Amino acid sequence: MTNNQPKTRTTSPLTLSWRVGVPHWETDEAFGRLMGLFREYRPVVDEVALFETNTHHLYIPLEDFTPRMEVAARRLDALRQAGIRSAGINVLCTIGHINEAWSYMPPLPFQAMVGHDGALSTGCACPNTPEMRAYVRAKYRLVAAARPDFIWVDDDIRMHWHGILWGCFCPTCLGLFAQRAGKPYSREELVQAFDDPGAENVREAWIDQNIATLESLLADVAAAIHEVDPEIVIGKMSCGPGMAYSGQAFERWYTALRATKARPGGGFYSDEMPKWMYGKALECGWQRDSLPPAVTDVQYELENFPYQRLKKSATALVDECTLALAFGLNGVAFNMLALDYEDFLPQMESIPAARPVWERWVAHADGLPTAGLWPAWSSRLMAKRTIRTGERWLESNRHYDISLPKVLGEIGLPLAGDRNACGVVLCGRVAEAFTDDELTRMLSGGVLMDSTALAVLEARGLGHLTGVRLAKRLDNGMMERFSADPLNGAAAGQLRDARIEFWGDATGMADVLEPVASGVRTLATLEDYFYRPQGTCMTAFENELGGRVVVMGYAPWIFLHSVGKRLQLQNVADWLSRGAMPVRVDETVPLLSVVRLSADRQRGAVLLLNAGMDEIREATVHLRVAARRGRLLTIGQPEREVALQPEGTGGCLTLRDIPPWGFRMLLLG
Ligand SMILES: [Zn+2]
Repeated sequence: MTNNQPKTRTTSPLTLSWRVGVPHWETDEAFGRLMGLFREYRPVVDEVALFETNTHHLYIPLEDFTPRMEVAARRLDALRQAGIRSAGINVLCTIGHINEAWSYMPPLPFQAMVGHDGALSTGCACPNTPEMRAYVRAKYRLVAAARPDFIWVDDDIRMHWHGILWGCFCPTCLGLFAQRAGKPYSREELVQAFDDPGAENVREAWIDQNIATLESLLADVAAAIHEVDPEIVIGKMSCGPGMAYSGQAFERWYTALRATKARPGGGFYSDEMPKWMYGKALECGWQRDSLPPAVTDVQYELENFPYQRLKKSATALVDECTLALAFGLNGVAFNMLALDYEDFLPQMESIPAARPVWERWVAHADGLPTAGLWPAWSSRLMAKRTIRTGERWLESNRHYDISLPKVLGEIGLPLAGDRNACGVVLCGRVAEAFTDDELTRMLSGGVLMDSTALAVLEARGLGHLTGVRLAKRLDNGMMERFSADPLNGAAAGQLRDARIEFWGDATGMADVLEPVASGVRTLATLEDYFYRPQGTCMTAFENELGGRVVVMGYAPWIFLHSVGKRLQLQNVADWLSRGAMPVRVDETVPLLSVVRLSADRQRGAVLLLNAGMDEIREATVHLRVAARRGRLLTIGQPEREVALQPEGTGGCLTLRDIPPWGFRMLLLG
């Protein structure tokens, strides 16, 4: 036990927390009703966090804020007296989130954040002026004086999307940057330098300034809180891992804030695209892997902002929380309390039945890393990416989209949030964020990559470790045909047609690969619509380091959902990981899998979620584990012991009758 152990921990390994808006707690009447709700749902209310403000605008005069925190203090006492083990305050605004209600909220009495285009935020502050810091310290002292068990710092701790796109280019921040860079820049000069291919030092120094700015702000917040009461537990909420402009320096930020609670971020607000819940869960898994060890309470945020009943079903709610817990989080912060109770009660009613199953999973999987393929991402992606002539650093660029490999999860390949997984996925230009040593280490193991990643590796002098070079880029009228290589199994000879021109610029969607070493295996070749061969587009190669590398040159991240492509990629993943992929399902069914596994494979936990609209009648699940028995769980059914049928690679289990968007959990060892 470290002395950072949050005092909110009890015997339950799972924390279910409720975030409560000001309208629910400010008046006696509203709070009385809320307490009635929490009494009724007591088994799923471990923790309550009161929002300190009702707008995303930072500034509230302290003379208005002081009496509100006095009310909050009484509410927190009442919550604790009702037996809720932990009651605290969620500080929504430290910098401010967006421009909101600016026409009547009091204007910021200090420097507002300035965008790269000179735009001025109306609701969010530059975090670097002494006036802003004095206000923030005073605000947090008032929050701490309300005697909360914990204080959350929300995810406005970022340097982008504050009513301006990219900040902060105010005189104070430009002055700080002049010291850091050793020469002064005007805003216009700096923005121009960002797009200079040779100005990598400027870009990296700017990201480092963003990191240092937020680190120092968080240190001020921690000092202000602990000056009032050193026992108050602190938590920090993060934006999704793709937000690399702000630096995503989790280790430094959580440490500066002395945080022991975390809420990894990401967006999944409605179930219009239900599979997107998997993408958010993976992002949460990535972030969880980046937290310092002192952070032990990691809560998923369930949200349907702005809180309307028909935007997200109870089934989606339960499934997305289950996925997040599967990826290694150990709590859920429910952000769904609409003003009208009828807008959330049916969803809330689904939670008590899920709790025992979630609790079993969290207890059993505690400390076990996720297993499978690790889609590579880096907090240094913005800092380290290259700029080619004509590219704009601050414009979005699809080659840096780290979310593309999540499609592998959709076809059932287990993906890992933890870096020490059994293989790496490299997409687009993400490899630019890594050092040569890091890339060489990856290439000495199993790597699945696209041909754009191949081009990055070639430029870095590492192309020989892939066995191929990028010979030609075709961008229209192409299909791929699977070769007779054994990795294609029964799919040999099949055609896959992704109709590559339909989805925007098709560059990188039909790349011809040419072997540069002996022993390169051709897994697929391009053909035009008259079935004329156009060259190799997918290869497998075992390099001099013993690494197994598969390069995909044809529509690498879309339309992998056919029977043949899924089979090929299952075989490829097994081959490049040398049989370490932890789970494989025979039938082509939409089962998402998340696996947690000990190094010796004796202990594990496997989630299989039916992400389809049809019942899955039967699924033959091969588990590459040492355990031979397990316990099968699902909501609403008694837990039962199951035996795995021994086979060469581990054990096999047949699952039956999994309803649409239902799941099974298997606890092993
Ligand atoms: Zn500034």
